[in-house]
Amino acid sequence: MIFLLTMLVDLDHLLANPIFDPCRCSIGFHVLHSWYMIAVYVLLLFTRMRILGIGLLMHMLTDQIDCWMQGTYCA
Ligand SMILES: [Zn+2]
Repeated sequence: MIFLLTMLVDLDHLLANPIFDPCRCSIGFHVLHSWYMIAVYVLLLFTRMRILGIGLLMHMLTDQIDCWMQGTYCA
């Protein structure tokens, strides 16, 4: 269940146009990846939805790491 919910943020990637752009930073671009939503995910850590918050933040973290890695091969 929790796993499925965290997969929902991946749909955010699919909704983006263009669908795949390795040189684009997901953070701050997708609706569910905005800093505003990240603040909401942090708040989830203090609720019963804590596991969900952790899952979502882990996703944001991996996306952010991707952004940093992009600097090595994107102009
Ligand atoms: Zn993402």
